[in-house]
Amino acid sequence: MTERRAIVTGAGGFIGHHLVRRLKADGFWVRGVDLKYPEFEASAADEFFLLDLRRSAQCAEALARIGEADIAVYHLAANTGGIAFIERHKALITHDNVLIDTHLLEAARKAGVARFLFASSACVYPAYLQQDANVAPLREGDAYPADPEDGYGWEKLFAERECRHYWEDYGLETRVARFHNVYGPLGAYAGGREKSPAAMCRKVAQAADGGEVEIWGDGAQTRSYCYVDDCVEGIRRLMDSEHRTPLNIGQERLVSIDELVDIVAHVAGKRVVKRHIPGALGVRGRTSDNSRLRAVLGWEPLTPLEEGLRHTYRWVADRIATGSRDAAGISGGHRDQPLAVTR
Ligand code: NAD
Repeated sequence: MTERRAIVTGAGGFIGHHLVRRLKADGFWVRGVDLKYPEFEASAADEFFLLDLRRSAQCAEALARIGEADIAVYHLAANTGGIAFIERHKALITHDNVLIDTHLLEAARKAGVARFLFASSACVYPAYLQQDANVAPLREGDAYPADPEDGYGWEKLFAERECRHYWEDYGLETRVARFHNVYGPLGAYAGGREKSPAAMCRKVAQAADGGEVEIWGDGAQTRSYCYVDDCVEGIRRLMDSEHRTPLNIGQERLVSIDELVDIVAHVAGKRVVKRHIPGALGVRGRTSDNSRLRAVLGWEPLTPLEEGLRHTYRWVADRIATGSRDAAGISGGHRDQPLAVTR
C-alpha cells in the first residue's frame, strides 16, 4: 500500500496539533506547518516547517518536496483568537488571512495536491439570524444573503468562495468545514487568543471556592460547543467524503454563558459567584443545524459538554497549579522539538 501523506497548516495551533496526532494514529506521514511550534507539547508530525504563509514563496515551500503520493492539505492556519481579539484587530485579521488563504490555494493548485480542506467558521453566518439567545439553528444555506462577523467572518466567507472557484475552474478538490466553538485541552487559555470555554476554565480554576468569576455581558448569550476530538473526527470524515460545499462541524446543544460557567464550576467542585461586566459579546445566540452533517457524513459531534469540559478544566487547572511558564498563553512555542525545520 502506498504511504498516505498529509500536510497540516496551523499545526502549531490548537486544532491543528490535535489533527496531526490523529493523522499519525491513522497511519499518515504528516508535515506540520506553522509560524511556531505547538506551545504545550511536541508535535507528532514527521517533519515540521516554520513558515510564514502570508508569503507566496513560503506557501510553495510548505507544499514542496513531498513525493509522488496523493497529498491531502488540511489548511487550519489563520490569525485568529477570541471574540475580543477578533473585534479589535479586523485589519490585521483580514490582511493576514486573505494572504494566507489565497497564496496557499494557489500553491496547492500548482503543486497538484489531491485534496484541500479549509477551516471556515460559524462566524460566516449573518448577524440578522443571530439576534436572539433562543436562536434558530443555522443551516449551511443560511450564510446568504451575507452579513457575517465583520472582518474575520467576511474573510472566511470570501475564502470559502475561493475554494469553490478553485474547484469549478481548476478541478482542485476542496472541502469547507464550518467549525462552531471548538474547545478542549492544549489550546490557548489566557492572553487574549482564548475562547470562552478555556477562559471560563481559567477563571474558575483561579477563583477561590465561593469566589467571583467575571462574565462579559449579562451571561444570557448562547452558543453551542464542539469538543476538539469530535472536530478532528469531522475533519477526517469530511476530507474523505465527496461533499464539496460548506458543512457545519458543531453541536446542536445550545447553552448560555452562565450555564457554561455553572458546568465548569460543577466539574471543578467549586461554588462561584457570577459577576457580569461589560466586554466583547459577538452575536446574541448561535448554534448549528446538523441536518446536512448527519445526511452527508452519517455522524455528528456528540461528546457531552460536561465530559469535554471535564478534560479541558483538568488540563487548564493543572497548568495553572504548576505555574507553567506559558501561563500568559503567549509563549514562543515548544522549544524541545526534535523535528526537521526549514527556517
Ligand atoms: P490557533 O490560533 O490555535 O491556530 C492557528 C495557527 O495558525 C496558529 O498556530 C498560528 O501560529 C498559525 N498561523 C497564523 N498565522 C500564520 C502564518 N502567517 N503562517 C503560518 N501559520 C500561521 O486556532 P485554532 O483554534 O486551532 O483554529 C484553527 C482554524 O480553525 C483557524 O483557521 C480558525 O479560524 C478556525 N476556527 C476555529 C474555531 C475554534 O473554535 N477554535 C472556530 C471556527 C473556526
